[in-house]
Amino acid sequence: MKKDIPDLSRIISETVDRRKNEIIDFCRDLIRIPSLTGGERRIQEFVAKHLKDMGLEVKVWEPDLSKMKGHPGYVDVGKDYVNRPNVVGIYKGKGGRSLILNGHTDVVTPEPLKKWSHHPWGAEICRGKIYGRGACDMKGGITGMIKALQILLELDLAPLGDVTLEVVVDEEASGNGTLASVLEGYNADAAIFAEPTSCVIMPAHRGAFFWRVYIEGKGAHAGVKYQGISAVEKGMLIYRALEGLENKRNEIGKKHPLYGHYPVTTPVCVGKFNGGWYPSSVPEECILEGSVEFLPGERVKTVREQFEQTVENTVKKDPWLKKHPPRIEWFGLSLPPAQISSDHSLIKTFKRAYTEIRGKEVKIAGFPAGCDMRIRVLYTKTPSIVFGPGDISLAHRVDEFIHIEELLLFIKILALGMLEWSQKENYLEN
Ligand SMILES: [Zn+2]
Repeated sequence: MKKDIPDLSRIISETVDRRKNEIIDFCRDLIRIPSLTGGERRIQEFVAKHLKDMGLEVKVWEPDLSKMKGHPGYVDVGKDYVNRPNVVGIYKGKGGRSLILNGHTDVVTPEPLKKWSHHPWGAEICRGKIYGRGACDMKGGITGMIKALQILLELDLAPLGDVTLEVVVDEEASGNGTLASVLEGYNADAAIFAEPTSCVIMPAHRGAFFWRVYIEGKGAHAGVKYQGISAVEKGMLIYRALEGLENKRNEIGKKHPLYGHYPVTTPVCVGKFNGGWYPSSVPEECILEGSVEFLPGERVKTVREQFEQTVENTVKKDPWLKKHPPRIEWFGLSLPPAQISSDHSLIKTFKRAYTEIRGKEVKIAGFPAGCDMRIRVLYTKTPSIVFGPGDISLAHRVDEFIHIEELLLFIKILALGMLEWSQKENYLEN
């Protein structure tokens, strides 16, 4: 007999609350396995075992570079995937709408270690939060997607459609893990990327690219510094100009319906500013490195041209730079943005599930970073959202944590939404 939504909502909520300790333990187990990008083997084996124990059809494989090279979504990071397997676990439904739940197990460096007040691999619990590198980006999300499916199956509330748990490597540096899964043939009617959105539904994410600018100076002994030209001082001119570029771009970003509310809609970040070699030498060289983030609807080519123009305008106004123009280099990361329509039935389904569980409406916004969602939206045309527990502002920094209550909330909404999505006549939409 088909249960109505309030019944389902209550059963799911009560079960998730009752199984709180098991959920916390699983999340802590994931955090305790250090899994820096490149060192994902152990955690992937741990996840694979758990998915097998759940009775899923599990595939573990190392992404094949030769298959990925030449694909427009491939990012060359100069590394292969030996000992870095992807893991996919599939629950076979009975023909309803299918869903992919995607998560990456790789995490960024916990440095600077000495600034942590909780050990980054300790998974300590303090005042309702679990601390550790990856707690919100995104071992909380992975815990949520695995436990949501496991709980549904154990409640005998299996989704009607296939559910694929896609647990990938190498999101932080490239997105090649998700690409490898696409090329392996895994697909579905929709996908959810459980990155930290504080349970806000995000049908878009930014694009981003890295840049580097080399600036030349003229060395001199500090005692006669007026005979030299400081590359750092010239680097400051570029720095200020890039602030201007950010302000200008921000005006346009403010008009974007999903991004207008962010204080900085399209960040231009100078992440490194290196100049000089010796305390009593005028710096001969200065190197700036940073990133530019841009919005759905923008092209990487156009944004790069704006960047070049900004540097060029600064050069024109400075006689030294005119003679010694800085060199711009694009390196490393370069990812396009992606967006789906905010009216898509995937969004309607999860909006309704949110309201049912939470008793209030969910916010819809754009994800303020890049992520793997683009691979499915751009290359397999799979409608996708970013939706997960944890606050992105806590990711990639010391004392990263996830609120236990938010993790439980996510599992409840995901379980209910997943169930309703899988129904052929999706009554949550009406
Ligand atoms: Zn992430």
